[in-house]
Amino acid sequence: MISARTAGLMLLVAAASLCMGPAGSSADDFVDQRQKMVALQIGDRGISDASVLKAMATVPRHLFVAPELRDLAYRDAPLPIGHGQTISQPYIVALMSQLLAVQPGQRVLEIGTGSGYQAAVLAEMGVHVFTIEIVPELGRQAIDVLDALDYQNIRVKIGDGYKGWPEHAPFDAIIVTCAPTRIPKPLTEQLAEGGRMVIPSGEKYDQQLLLLTKQAGKIEREKVVDVRFVPMVDEQGKTY
Ligand code: SAH
Repeated sequence: MISARTAGLMLLVAAASLCMGPAGSSADDFVDQRQKMVALQIGDRGISDASVLKAMATVPRHLFVAPELRDLAYRDAPLPIGHGQTISQPYIVALMSQLLAVQPGQRVLEIGTGSGYQAAVLAEMGVHVFTIEIVPELGRQAIDVLDALDYQNIRVKIGDGYKGWPEHAPFDAIIVTCAPTRIPKPLTEQLAEGGRMVIPSGEKYDQQLLLLTKQAGKIEREKVVDVRFVPMVDEQGKTY
């Protein structure tokens, strides 16, 4: 007969080994790298929004890149995601997320789904994300990763994000992760009153990250920092 005490201990050990995973290792081998990324690349550089820091400490960035690039996923750099596109440097993702100043439950439009990583970070912050990607293969790949991670509050559309997503407008915030030479009018129109848009804009190699705010129907703009994003293109590949 097993004593009640032994049975209790066995249960405890079973529960602990469930938490630890089969080999006694953590379920996600990248936890340490991710925490270091948040501390050194993001917190130490002045990003202080707790919801951004928590989201970036949670989202498994390595699952948004090809298996052979996973070991590089937490570096202080952008990475290729195929089709000539890139997943942004972690710091830029954090900076843009903080600039949006969103509250849980709000609606955010993203133009340029790419890998889906930025969308996942926003979803972790508790907002409803509507994201548009023009390269069908990238859009489908992002849908697969986001579904596998069970993000329920992200909707991905394949199409030209220049036009926005009028069926779901207005948006409390809009984040654009590809650079047009000029601000797309449909996007400013779909921004809610009091809403914020973060968008890189300018010519190739000479772009600035802008923060636009809509007050009494008027758009105010503020320059944040010089950046280099891939261009926003139309369905023929022509830069906007
Ligand atoms: N936010 C992404 C990074 C995106 S890179 C991430 O977290 O991984 C920029 C993306 O914008 C590319 O995937 C590119 O195909 C897309 N893009 C370029 N022009 C676009 C347009 N007009 N509409 C929607 N997506 C566009």
